[in-house]
Amino acid sequence: VRRNPGQVLFRQAVHEVLESLAPVVRQHPEYVEGGILKRIIEPERVVSFRVPWVDDNGVVQVQRGFRVQFSSDLGPYKGGLRFHKSVDEDTLKFLGFEQVFKNALTGLGLGGGKGGSDFDPHGKSNGEVMRFCQSFMAELAHHIGADLDVPAGDIGVGGREIGYLYGQYRKVTGRNEAGVITGKGVGYGGSWARTEATGYGLVYFVREMLRDCPGLTLEGSRVVVSGSGNVALYAAKKASQLGATVVACSDSQGYVLDEDGLDLDLLSEIKDVRRERLSAYADERGNCTYFEGRSVWEVDCDIALPCATQNELDGDAARTLAENGCRLIAEGANMPCTEEAIEVIHAKGILFGPAKAANAGGVATSGLEMRQNAGRLLWDFERVDSELDRIMTNIHATAAATAEEYGQPGDLIAGANIAAFRRVADAMLAQGVI
Ligand code: NDP
Repeated sequence: VRRNPGQVLFRQAVHEVLESLAPVVRQHPEYVEGGILKRIIEPERVVSFRVPWVDDNGVVQVQRGFRVQFSSDLGPYKGGLRFHKSVDEDTLKFLGFEQVFKNALTGLGLGGGKGGSDFDPHGKSNGEVMRFCQSFMAELAHHIGADLDVPAGDIGVGGREIGYLYGQYRKVTGRNEAGVITGKGVGYGGSWARTEATGYGLVYFVREMLRDCPGLTLEGSRVVVSGSGNVALYAAKKASQLGATVVACSDSQGYVLDEDGLDLDLLSEIKDVRRERLSAYADERGNCTYFEGRSVWEVDCDIALPCATQNELDGDAARTLAENGCRLIAEGANMPCTEEAIEVIHAKGILFGPAKAANAGGVATSGLEMRQNAGRLLWDFERVDSELDRIMTNIHATAAATAEEYGQPGDLIAGANIAAFRRVADAMLAQGVI
């Protein structure tokens, strides 16, 4: 508390990890002797900078930009950029900390970082978004590089923003260094399946979890997702492809319930192409209902996939889901379940897939994009997708086996945290106190 005043999200994320580590620390006193616990919760570097830009009315606006370079013990800092009005140092330290562990689980040799700005893309014109991205990158370019720090997208940063950011990076540095950022369009150095990866990967992870859930398969299940952005959309697509009916999704204003199963082409057109609010989906689709200002977790389902933002699913929501028969919750967003929600989920015997493991597919595929860039290659969709599936299956197996090894069978939070911690901690011990 003294070292991180006011940083409630960061402290929540650290608390959840440290709580899982007691059994490891008991067995491995060298981690304490090497100062690992003290070092691992302190970012290597936090860069904060001014981002001035001119809006369409000719008025100068000033945003705050950040890059948190949390850990480079396993490889270059890697993690997305978030553009959302709530972004501050606390948010990005929590996300950067989570990223270190998630990236370790992928096994791809990636350190952890996160960045972003309090810029709110909602309602901004294309020109405004471009000018903001250019100003943001004019400073960020000094701090990143293909072997140093490799950003990607996150909330508010999709293909359009990555394009503007990468263009400005090339302009500012004069270098054609594709591996400096991931999530690029396939036509200029991106990877097939990166757009789909976090959502698809989440559902591959759920498929593995369901092997321990007799009587429930994706085929024939009723699924609810929150959010209607990148992760939510592709989680819904893959779940439907595997035979589930995805009946509801949300945005920050409300949710839509579509008993026939969401029309994902229409949803994608409205959210991705036209950039409209979710209420427009209900207007156009007909025969479905939009609930303004209500929580999507009141919809009964077998499987719930929170894919919007942190702390969006609280204790009450978890209780409602349990009462309505939900049997599995897997986190597509980062830390979407509050600590109380997780207690309820455990108490009610609902299977739980924690974000660090369940949503690692995005960064894993970014890692594959970096490999393709380094080799000047473009793998086809099927190859990337099958690598993604293999990585997610492996992460699930590692988390499950580690939970078992440390006496907490079925607890994927403990398993993921411990397995990731051990990888990072061993690398830190080997490299000395730096
Ligand atoms: P997008 O910007 O594409 O979509 C975000 C969605 O969440 C939107 O529907 C948005 O609604 C909703 N949302 C955002 N903030 C809130 C809020 N405070 N309350 C309710 N709804 C909200 O982001 P992504 O899909 O990329 O990211 C979603 C989550 O997944 C984040 O937690 C992110 O960190 C995580 N993640 C993303 C990865 C990726 O590859 N993109 C990888 C791993 C994790 P609205 O439009 O109304 O704001």
